Amino acid sequence: VCFFDPSMLNIIAARAEMEADLRTGLRRHEFRLFYQPQVNSAGKWLGAEALLRWQHPQKGMISPAEFIPLAEETGLIIPIGKWVLHHACAQLAAWQSDPVSAALTMSVNVSAKQFRQDDFVATVRKALQDSGLEPACLELEITESVTMAGSALFEQRLAELKQLGVSIAIDDFGTGFSSLSYLDKLPANRLKIDRAFVAQIDSSSGPRIAELIIQLGKKLNLAVIAEGIESQKHWDYLKNAGCQEGQGYFIGMPMLEADLMNWIKTDR
Ligand code: C2E
Ligand code: MG
Ligand code: MG
Repeated sequence: VCFFDPSMLNIIAARAEMEADLRTGLRRHEFRLFYQPQVNSAGKWLGAEALLRWQHPQKGMISPAEFIPLAEETGLIIPIGKWVLHHACAQLAAWQSDPVSAALTMSVNVSAKQFRQDDFVATVRKALQDSGLEPACLELEITESVTMAGSALFEQRLAELKQLGVSIAIDDFGTGFSSLSYLDKLPANRLKIDRAFVAQIDSSSGPRIAELIIQLGKKLNLAVIAEGIESQKHWDYLKNAGCQEGQGYFIGMPMLEADLMNWIKTDR
């Protein structure tokens, strides 16, 4: 028996339209990077996370949550991801040429499909070479779903990236399937506490996973940054629990490059 629901057709049509739009968007340079500041516990800036947006000519600004899954499925994430890496590195090099922001670092999100590409390490190397950046200033954010794959390919890739000298952060930590014994061996530099665990600070009964991650980071000698800090209460709580680094709307919104520079130059 085969069922057909006309609404299925709408979904397929909408996806096909978005895929065609994504291709056009790439060609017409409709993608933009926003930068969200990352600070230490004293509030001093450390770096920025590059966050992708799509400036659609008719639909306006589209969030990555809406188009990254389709970009992954269709493979368009590969050229888009390359663009992000090159653009973010070039931007950081420009910022570093200003003495005020010379110490800034940049975090770039990498999706599973990108990470698995044969030429991924070569792409990162090229972006570093073209921009002249010190590799250690570039942090690649990968999620647990990528990291815990545990395959030989994965381990080799990480080792190559490490050798290149870039930093690795585990994004959305705690939301995927983590193998703790594996984490111990992982050549990561930083854990990012997912914002869902930061939001738990507001509920009096909720388990304090954020605290556990902070302790885990300490034991494993990994830096820990919390994302999704939306209030003074969140930030105070995390700092009291030993978290040294933070990111979130309370600290700074994702913003365009000129705004980030103003933000840095005002009083940080
Ligand atoms: P992510 O890497 O975990 O990024 C954090 C997301 O949380 C961002 O959403 C950011 O705008 C949002 N955020 C930051 N502070 C707060 C806060 O205080 N409260 C709340 N509620 N949200 C906050 P965004 O920019 O929509 O990105 C969503 C996801 O899309 C990212 O999650 C990342 O997985 C993916 N993404 C973004 N840019 C790229 C990219 O260039 N390449 C790839 N592959 N994925 C990307
Ligand atoms: Mg991220
Ligand atoms: Mg995250």
